[in-house]
Formats: sequence, structure tokens, C-alpha cells
Amino acid sequence: LNRRLAEFGTTIFAEMSALAVRTGAINLGQGFPDTDGPEEVREAAVRALRDGRGNQYPPGPGVPELRAAVAAHQERRYGLAYDPDTEVLVTAGATEAIAACLLALVEPGDEVVALEPYYDSYAACVAMAGGRRVPVTLRPHEGTFRLDLDELRDAVTDRTRLLLINTPHNPTGTVLTRAELTAIAELAVERDLLVVTDEVYEHLVFDDAEHVPLATFPGMRERTVSIGSAGKTFSFTGWKVGWVTGSRELVGAVRSAKQFLTYVSSGPFQYAVAEALALPESYFSAFRDDLRAKRDLLSAGLADAGFSVFRTAGTYFVTTDVRPLGETDGFAFCRALPERAGVVAVPNAVFYDDREAGAPFVRFAFCKRKDVLEEAAERLRRLA
Ligand code: PMP
Ligand code: GLN
Repeated sequence: LNRRLAEFGTTIFAEMSALAVRTGAINLGQGFPDTDGPEEVREAAVRALRDGRGNQYPPGPGVPELRAAVAAHQERRYGLAYDPDTEVLVTAGATEAIAACLLALVEPGDEVVALEPYYDSYAACVAMAGGRRVPVTLRPHEGTFRLDLDELRDAVTDRTRLLLINTPHNPTGTVLTRAELTAIAELAVERDLLVVTDEVYEHLVFDDAEHVPLATFPGMRERTVSIGSAGKTFSFTGWKVGWVTGSRELVGAVRSAKQFLTYVSSGPFQYAVAEALALPESYFSAFRDDLRAKRDLLSAGLADAGFSVFRTAGTYFVTTDVRPLGETDGFAFCRALPERAGVVAVPNAVFYDDREAGAPFVRFAFCKRKDVLEEAAERLRRLA
């Protein structure tokens, strides 16, 4: 293994899901729903397969139906107009989108400023691109994790090429506010930075939180690549259908990298996701309501079990602090948790350069059936 990748090892999601299988514990580690997405969307995939749509290599940028549906979705929800032919690119999940963006836009030695804790592939992809990651840490503040805008400004240097933003944020559940996004946008414009914004949880926002795409802020459309995913929005994580939107120039660059990663993927599923993106608003609001109830159920269970629980405004994760349970090392806690309580979770420390800063935090996924969450909550009470 080369020096760029040597520090990364096996992803925590594979490690923790294997632990769940080995121990038979309830898997609240890796973020995937235990209920598949809408029946009619699965039917659309079956129809595409049967009718021979997408069984051979689809077009490089994605099938026209899906590109049109992505553009229509961005326009309808956010008033962002993109040309489906040149400003939309279908990818093998958001994971490939992240990789292709970084490989296409970062020069060796460039600095990439990313929010910490960061989704684990960010660090690996910055490394593969030969860049240097510069984390800006979200810190606990009144029951949520907040971005310090001064720290963000201080992190930008003459070598900074790109800001890598994620909102709604995995693993903290933070949704950046309009004021925070305004400040990020102003900084990007002032320092002439590119922005890659991972918005895969765009539809999973709760209560009075609001998801505002960074690309909608003044001066941002031309410097921002936005990333979405059918895995998160429609509960089909195995289909690996994602997309990017942005200017012709930026999306063209991302496509240059993408064509040598997978070339294309997920043919028949692309047609099905095109139909999914046209689902009525009632689908999205029902999904959100269901997840909000599950967030409340699991958050209450964790609080009962003695964890300190952070408020999730978006995503399907809740971050906890294990120190009230007398623990200090979230990693050791997660490794022991299947034996102690029959539940699997993920230590947030793996999403930090500064492992100390992340040590006491542990993430639980609530995209699971209600009975599964109730059973998990019951088991976790054994810890109290
Ligand atoms: N970005 C974030 C923030 C994620 O949490 C995930 C994983 N769910 C991804 C990207 C990857 O998405 P996909 O499964 O579409 O590759
Ligand atoms: N994004 C999911 C999570 O954060 C997992 C994706 C993966 O396994 N790579 O849990």
C-alpha cells in the first residue's frame, strides 16, 4: 500500500458491520436503512431491467432521464437552474462524486479545508489527490456541534484550493444555518476558493432546521459543486446512484476524473431514480416525519441509558458523549458494546485528525425499524 493510503486501514463502517454480524448485535453503526425505499421505485427498476434499459453501458454523464430529473429537482426545490446536458453528472453514489471532485480539482500540495469530524472518505480522497487536509473542528455548544467561523477563516491560507463542506452533517447531525452558510460563501468569494458541498442528507432535516444549498448564495453557483445521493434520499444505498451539479466547467472537470474511475454504473437503477426524484412532496415529508419520530425514540433511549445526547437537526445519526457513563474512549467503548449490550455503534474519533477531540463521542444510526430501535434502547439501558 502506498504512503498516501497507508494511514487509512479498513473503513470503520466495514469493521463495525462485520462486528455486528459476528456478534449478532443490533447494527446502529453503518448508516443504512433496514427498510427499502418505495415499492413503485423498485418496480421502476424491475421494468428498466426487463425492458432492457440500462443493461449495457449507459451514457458517460448518466442517462438523460436522470440528468433531467436531477436538474428539475434542483430547480423546483431550490430555484437552481442547471443544464442537464452539461451541468449534471451521474456518479456511482456520492462516494464516487467526492473522489472525482477531489481528483479533478485538487493539485498535489493544495490544501483542502474540511469540517471535522469528517466523513471518512474525505480524508482518503484528499490524500489520493495528493492534497493536504486542513480540518476545522465543530465543537460542542449547548447540545449541538457548532462551526467557529473565525477558525474557518484562519484555516484558509494562500495554498487553500477548496472548501469541502457537508450539511446536514454526518456524524454530528448539525445543519449549517443561513448565517453560517452566508459567512462560508463570503469567505469562498473573498479568497477565490472552490467549494465542494456534500448535501446527501438534504431531505433529512427536522423541526425548524432548514437545508439551504451553498450554491444558492451570491457568487457561489459558479464555484460550487453540489453532491446528492439516491442512497440517502430514497433508501437505496445498494444502488450506488449519486450525482453532482455545478457549472459546465467544474462538472466537466469532475467528469474527466469520473470517466477513469468507474466510467459508468447502475444502468437500470438510474431510470428508477429518475422516477423517484419526481415523487410528490408527500413522499419526502412522510420520510422526514418517520425519521423524526425515530430520532426522538433513539435519543430518548440513549438519554435514559445515561449518555449525554446531542440534538440532531438533520441526517439519520445521533452523536452521544459517553463520559457520563464513566467512559473516556469511544473506540474502546464501541468495541466492547456488542458484548455488553448487544448493540453496535461507531466511534466518532475515526472522523477526526485530532483523535483526542473526538475520543468521547459515539454515533448511533436511527434509520431502523421502530421495533429495532425500541429493542436497542432496551438493551442500552443495561449500561445505566
Ligand atoms: N457523504 C456522506 C456525508 C455520507 O454520509 C455518505 C454515506 N452515506 C456518503 C457521502 C456516501 O454516499 P453514497 O452511498 O451515495 O456513496
Ligand atoms: N455513509 C454511511 C455512514 O456514515 C456509510 C457508508 C459506508 O459504509 N461507506 O454510516
